[in-house]
Amino acid sequence: MDVEELKLKAEDSVESQRQQLIQLSLNMHDNPELGFKEEKASAWLASYLEHNGFHVERGIAGLPTAFRATYGQESPRIALLAEYDALPKIGHGCGHNIIGTSAVGAGVASKHIIDQLGGSVVVLGTPAEENFGGKIDMVKAGAFKEIDVAMIVHPDTRNMPTEEALAASSLEVEFFGRPAHAAGQPHKGINALDAMVLAFTSINSLRQHIRGDARIHGIITDGGEAPNIVPAHSAATFLVRALDDDYLAELKDRILNCFTGASVASGARLEYRWRDRTYAPMKNNMTLAGLFKQNLQSLGRGVEDFDPRSGLGSTDMGNVSQVVPSIHPTIAIAPREVLLHTPEFAAATVSEAGHGGLLDAAKAMAMTVADILQPGMLDKIKQEFRRG
Ligand SMILES: [Zn+2]
Ligand SMILES: [Zn+2]
Repeated sequence: MDVEELKLKAEDSVESQRQQLIQLSLNMHDNPELGFKEEKASAWLASYLEHNGFHVERGIAGLPTAFRATYGQESPRIALLAEYDALPKIGHGCGHNIIGTSAVGAGVASKHIIDQLGGSVVVLGTPAEENFGGKIDMVKAGAFKEIDVAMIVHPDTRNMPTEEALAASSLEVEFFGRPAHAAGQPHKGINALDAMVLAFTSINSLRQHIRGDARIHGIITDGGEAPNIVPAHSAATFLVRALDDDYLAELKDRILNCFTGASVASGARLEYRWRDRTYAPMKNNMTLAGLFKQNLQSLGRGVEDFDPRSGLGSTDMGNVSQVVPSIHPTIAIAPREVLLHTPEFAAATVSEAGHGGLLDAAKAMAMTVADILQPGMLDKIKQEFRRG
């Protein structure tokens, strides 16, 4: 069977799974689960693969809701990544129900390709993308050690073969002051909230003088107890993002200076902690992206190059892309004006366009599996990866 026949058969396989994949996506949409609590979604996806002949291991890499489902025994091993975590209050506003179902659909549709060409397809269930970066833990635990190539498709408002993602670090800060009656003895107090407000002001000034693609944003999580008590404690969480690790390191220093300066000015003591899970920038494998793009076009989709106007975020797929040749393309499921991380986008994931995106993403990934297993292709992909 030549590669084009294998691809046609992969399309047929996704079509034959249509009802089941859509039902899985609907179930996930109707039962949104937060990061590391995706018990139902991970069980549904893993069971689906098991029923379709995959060897399934649950709770890998020390993460109870992560799984590995393998078809085939040999290398090369091609990973298709499933996400399934939702957002607080807005459910699947990032469309991870489509990511999860397209990965399992592509996995099942790749079986006949593996039977013909050898190698293995590995569907990896990767929890908690949004808040914790489950893939960061999985990379550290060695879950990608035997993987040769990794693919994931994210729903969006455009079809793009690659997506840029910013490196991101999360900072927890606290100021400790001294309480006092805010009217009776204000001169005895040290105002921890003022320290935080000063730090916000300094960061707002800093923001004018940083690169346009860097981001600094945060919220105050403790701003005091009552207006008649000088706040003795304040707390905030910040995210700092940049296109590369070097600039991220530079920004982290400059942001800390804002907090240190506010501490000196107010007299409130500063404590801070950078979270140890840092999202790495996305290293797109252009050879792989080119294959995926052609396959998506052959399904009748217009494909555009990455456009920063579609938004710059961060993803733990960045960390995967630093250790294994990877792509993180997008599939359009909603008009341009619909924003990710909104209830409107969550609704779009279960619209006709959402179902169409899910099926096309599954088809294009399975077709790309057939391309990767053609003679010489994996070498080309790996050479590009090594060149950096
Ligand atoms: Zn998201
Ligand atoms: Zn997402």
